[in-house]
Amino acid sequence: MSAKILPIVQVGEPVLRQRARELTAKEIQSREIRELIRDMRETMYKAPGVGLAAPQIGRPLQLAVIEDKAEYMKDVPPDVIRERERRPVAFQVLINPRITLLDQGEAEFFEGCLSLTGFTAVVRRARAVRVECLDEHASPRVIEASGWYARILQHEIDHLQGTIYIDRMLPRTFMSVELMNKNWSKLPVQETLKQLDSSRQP
Ligand code: ZN
Repeated sequence: MSAKILPIVQVGEPVLRQRARELTAKEIQSREIRELIRDMRETMYKAPGVGLAAPQIGRPLQLAVIEDKAEYMKDVPPDVIRERERRPVAFQVLINPRITLLDQGEAEFFEGCLSLTGFTAVVRRARAVRVECLDEHASPRVIEASGWYARILQHEIDHLQGTIYIDRMLPRTFMSVELMNKNWSKLPVQETLKQLDSSRQP
């Protein structure tokens, strides 16, 4: 059977606000979950996105897929890639992940979400993380990641706890992707934060 493209739910669906449940080793090896992983992978490629968590396709399970392809970086200016510490990440499956934020500073960048189509905001995140999880064969894995890879992991693992980037964003930086590209994408993030007066309280 070939892969199916699954509908991605938008913010407002209760499933995005639930804590997802863990999968057992037996479930991970079941045909249903193997097919779900295959379909999530194709759905992520089609979107396209660099990560997709099961709640985003309506399933409250501790399961996410990620991949950051070199081809996604073709049209991104080299200084942006460098600033974001973005490097290609091979396809991987994260099941029942536990994340530890490492003490290597924080980074502030715009990020978006396939469940909040058309919007973006600056989110402050740890620059480096350690993740313990199971892979698609139910084998334990430890991932040490930094830069953009660490950001993707934090974003996707947040989804499994019912957390969305808007819970962590600098609220005054929330905007449409279209207008971010038009007005802010050429500026260094720190300058954008200054102009938007991002630390101001209402
Ligand atoms: Zn997301």
